[in-house]
Amino acid sequence: IERTLSIIKPDATKRNLTGKIVAKFEEAGLRVVASKRIHLTPAQAGAFYAEHKERGFYGELCAFMASEPVVVQVLEGEGAIAKNREVMGATDPAAAADGTIRKEFALSKGENSVHGSDSEASAAREIAFFFSGLELV
Ligand code: ATP
Ligand code: MG
Repeated sequence: IERTLSIIKPDATKRNLTGKIVAKFEEAGLRVVASKRIHLTPAQAGAFYAEHKERGFYGELCAFMASEPVVVQVLEGEGAIAKNREVMGATDPAAAADGTIRKEFALSKGENSVHGSDSEASAAREIAFFFSGLELV
């Protein structure tokens, strides 16, 4: 059974949307198997998003991710990586399908409420970035 890393981003935690977002994951058959609320430093956000460091929005992205607490979770289910991305919707809320988290809650391409791992390799790296073996049962 597959696992993926989800982040409920600062724009969503600030608007008290954590429960509504988790409900969307659960309705789609994903199970929360690890969860914590943390406040990233800009350096930690930068390390997490290192793959984007050459992109023009990198500085803005790191500052945003460190602006307020986030909720990081491991979601488990059949095809969890793809299913999570389907429930999230497109990066840009204007392009996201009806019923998706980003369509309903995201404010912009940057402040888009959720992150989800995009491959098996990134899921493994991102889960290990936030959770120790002892926290994963
Ligand atoms: P995520 O990796 O957060 O799940 P994603 O895979 O849909 O989102 P990426 O292309 O990996 O999108 O971009 C990572 C994040 O960087 C986006 O979720 C968004 O918050 C931010 N971002 C992407 N493109 C832009 C942009 N043009 N302007 C501002 N922020 C952006
Ligand atoms: Mg991505």
